[in-house]
Parts: sequence; C-alpha cells; structure tokens
Amino acid sequence: MTYAITQSCCADATCVSVCPVNCIHPTPDEPDFGTTDRLYIDPRTCIGCGACADACPVDAIFPIDKLTGPQAVHVELNAEHFTGTQEHPWGEPRFPRSLPAHAAAPRVAVVGTGPAAGYAIQSLVRSTDAEITVLDRMSEPGGLVKFGVAPDHPSTKRIGSTFASNYEHPRVRLQLGVEVGRDVSHAELTEHFNAVVYAVGAPGHRKPGIPGEDLPGTLPARDFVGWCNGHPDVPADAVDLSAERAVIVGNGNVALDAARLLLTDPEELARTEIAEHALAALRTSKVREVVLLARRGPEHAACTRSELLGLREALGERMVVDAHGGAGETIAAAETGSTAGLLRDLPVAEIDYGAVPEERRLVLRFSSPPAEVRGDAQARALRTEGAELETGLVMWSVGSRGVAIPQLPFDEATGTIPNTGGRVEPGTYVVGWAKRGASGGIGANRTCASETVDALMDDAAEGKLHSPAEDAKSFPKLLRSRR
Ligand SMILES: Cc1cc2nc3c(=O)[nH]c(=O)nc-3n(C[C@H](O)[C@H](O)[C@H](O)COP(=O)(O)OP(=O)(O)OC[C@H]3O[C@@H](n4cnc5c(N)ncnc54)[C@H](O)[C@@H]3O)c2cc1C
Ligand code: SF4
Ligand code: SF4
Repeated sequence: MTYAITQSCCADATCVSVCPVNCIHPTPDEPDFGTTDRLYIDPRTCIGCGACADACPVDAIFPIDKLTGPQAVHVELNAEHFTGTQEHPWGEPRFPRSLPAHAAAPRVAVVGTGPAAGYAIQSLVRSTDAEITVLDRMSEPGGLVKFGVAPDHPSTKRIGSTFASNYEHPRVRLQLGVEVGRDVSHAELTEHFNAVVYAVGAPGHRKPGIPGEDLPGTLPARDFVGWCNGHPDVPADAVDLSAERAVIVGNGNVALDAARLLLTDPEELARTEIAEHALAALRTSKVREVVLLARRGPEHAACTRSELLGLREALGERMVVDAHGGAGETIAAAETGSTAGLLRDLPVAEIDYGAVPEERRLVLRFSSPPAEVRGDAQARALRTEGAELETGLVMWSVGSRGVAIPQLPFDEATGTIPNTGGRVEPGTYVVGWAKRGASGGIGANRTCASETVDALMDDAAEGKLHSPAEDAKSFPKLLRSRR
C-alpha cells in the first residue's frame, strides 16, 4: 500500500530523511523545494513502509486507502506531481553535518521561539555541544505556530509540541517575557554569548496605503487570527462582528484562514483550541457574507493549492466567484492543477452587493484593488474599482514585514536583517522570516535554519565567534535585575 501526503504538510522535509527509497520530493536539494508549499510521494517508488507517516510532525501522511471523500484528491495530486518524470531520477537527500572536534562548545543565544528558532535549536543540539539560551518577548513559546496557525488546523499546530520538546533538552534553557531591544540589548547578548541567532520573525503589518485604512473596524487579518488564538497583544474586544458583510483584502493563506474562521459553524470551532472570547463573539456574529478582494486576476491568486483545497472542503457549496473583470473566463482557461484551475467548478455570477443573502457565503472578487475605506468614527464601506461594498469589518492581508531591533542593521525596503546565508557578521546570525522576509510556511524554515547553523558552525570552526567577557551564570542574573 503506497502512501500520500495531504494538505497539512508544511514542507519541513522531515519525511525525506527517513524514506528508504528516496521517493518524497522535492527534497531540500532540488530547485522546486524553495517554492513548493508541500511535498509529494511518488507512488511508483513508494514501498509502503510507513516510516514517513511516523516521522511527520503534523500527521500529513496517510496510506492511500485511508484517503476517501474530499481527501481522495490528494492521491491524485501526489501522482500528478510525478507525471512525465523518470523513476528514481534524484540524488541522495542531504543530512546534517557536525562541528569539528577541535571547536569548543559555544554558548549560543537564540532570540525567538517560532519555527525558525525551533529548527535552529534542533540543528544546534544535534550537531554541536552548544549551551543554548532561548529568549522570547511573549510569555508562551511557539511564535506563529501558537498565535498564527489557525485554531481549526490542529494537525499543523501539533508541530508546536515537537519544538516544545527542545526546551526539555539539558543544554537548552528557555527565558520567556524577555524582549531584546527593551529588556536586554544586542550588545549585552554579545557580552554573554559566543553567538546570537535572531529568529524574530516579521511582526509588522503591511497595509495598502489608502485613505481610511486605520478607521475603527479595520484590522490586519493576522490580528484577527491572533485574536482567535488568544494573542495577548490583541484585546478581546478588538473585533466587532456586528456587520453583515466582512471584506478581506488579499487572497493569500492568511486571508483564507480569516475567511474560513468567519464562516465556519462556531460549534465546529468549539472543538478546537480557539480562544473563549473569540468563540463567544463568533457565536453571536452577524457576518453572513465574506468578500475576498484580490487586486489581480485569479491566475495570480496568492494562496497555496493546499489551503484553497482546505477552504473548499470547509465551505463546500457556499463559495461563489464574482464575474467582475472576466474572472470566469480566466478560470476556465487556467491550467488543470494550477491554483486558479481549482476554482473551475465554482459558480460564477454577477454579484449584487446591495443586500447580503440569508445563507452564509464567501465571494471571491478579483481584479479589484481597494481605493478607500469610507466612514466616520467607524468603517462603513470599502470602495473598489466598479463597486462600493457596505461593511463594518475590513481586514488587510497584504503581507507582514520585519521590525528593526536596536543595534542591529535593518533593511527598510525588504523589512529584513541584512545577511549572507544567515550570517549578519561572525557571531551574529539570523533565520526565518527575519532573514528571508515574510513568505513561506513552517517547513521552509528548516532548510533556512540549517543554512544559518552551517554559517555559525563555519565561524566556530575558524575561531571567529564572539569571546564573551561575562561567564555563563551572569546572564540569568542580568535578566533578574531587569525584571
Ligand atoms: C496568521 C498566520 C498563519 C499561518 N499559518 C500557517 C500554516 O497553517 N502553515 C504553515 O506552514 N505556515 C503558516 N504560517 C507561516 C509560518 O507561521 C511562518 O513560516 C513561521 O512562523 C515563520 O517563523 P519565524 O520563526 O521566522 O517567525 P515567528 O513564528 O513569528 O517567530 C518569531 C518569534 O520571535 C519573537 N520575537 C520577536 N521579536 C522579539 C524580540 N525583540 N525579543 C524577543 N523575542 C522576539 C516572537 O514573540 C516570536 O515568538 C502562518 C503565518 C501567519 C502570519
Ligand atoms: S511509506 Fe516508506 S517508501 Fe513510501 S514514502 Fe513513506 S517512507 Fe518512503
Ligand atoms: S510536514 Fe514534513 S514530514 Fe510531514 S509530509 Fe510534509 S514534509 Fe513530510
């Protein structure tokens, strides 16, 4: 019985290194790996040993006979990925290297506890004798796995327990509620550690830059998902669900998450780890129509195919494409297997935005850049090319960006910490969204982390790390004095 990978795959390639016949692709060494949102199993080669399913941290792999109903599409998607390829055309997967014996065990600070930190710590623990101190400004670890991944994606959230087990390792010490740049400075970290690895993500929001974008009733979609996850920085009353229509600007994965959460039956969400205040508000929500507003046509949809399939599974018949801008024709002409191609069997209609229908639904409107949010003390409508949508809730889902940390270089244009292969300078490193910018799912941080840890190990081997003036015990003392 062969196995297939399903939509909760986060492309971290854990399964690649356990497969005895190298049939899971793309591997981290193959060019597509940087752009794929998920991996696929070649059914021609798979021997059905199940090792990949045991290793997968998010339970994304199943024997094909378990994939029935809407999940059956993944059997096809796995096979389709290999159409036209030879069997066994790939090289060996890449395994982690280790630090040369002559290099001393470094003291390393990792700033952040999201996926990038999680993979970097795993790699440091496996390949070095480093003593690692992990810092995070939040009072709970996990970064976006905890506060970003939607609560109705429990299998994806499960990777958080793999990362949490890092903090039980005898050489790893976790310090929460410590913000670098506020409670301790970068210079102080270099005085206490041989190396500092920044895994601080991209906590800033991008907005479209239109009039009215900060009116009450508008918020980043990422904050809405954070609100559903109980993020302490998003107050319980931050989201007002008293309008009948919500408009989400953007159509990437976070926009889809927000739309799905708004339209899912709250009783289904009650079975997840959704925050109590969000569940209570969704139970009394007046929102019946969510419009996903995309600047460009369906062929440029920013979401991944896996997320779109997940949305279709959750909403079933309750999705419609607005015919505006020739969306129907573009979808009809889209390649089978492309993201736009997955919309082909949805109804396409001229939408009258005058009244909101009784049945809850999602409208996909393309080729409609937002022009203005109208309102007074509250958002009342969103004006876009060819329509004015009455709404009291507008969400921005047009991307995230990094935030500068005092004493560290920062590239304003890309919102990242400038680096070469993860090295900011010998002794200071960066990984994850702070390094590459805010794109890519959880798994993309695994190869990113191994590149950064390689750079750190090269510097350790060449004796280029910092020589801290302070001993190992003085850092906890410094933190205590700051608290
Ligand atoms: C809403 C949302 C949903 C997502 N859902 C999915 C999904 O379902 N599947 C998927 O594969 N990918 C998903 N992603 C993408 C995924 O979350 C990212 O790829 C990943 O989190 C990036 O990892 P990171 O470690 O670089 O950043 P983060 O996860 O953001 O971690 C950064 C950490 O650094 C800490 N920090 C920041 N600044 C400081 C400081 N100055 N001092 C101390 N600590 C600091 C933060 O508190 C945080 O814990 C989602 C992203 C978003 C925004
Ligand atoms: S079941 Fe075994 S052979 Fe098939 S993909 Fe998984 S690890 Fe490889
Ligand atoms: S999440 Fe990782 S281990 Fe699981 S299927 Fe995807 S790449 Fe493989």
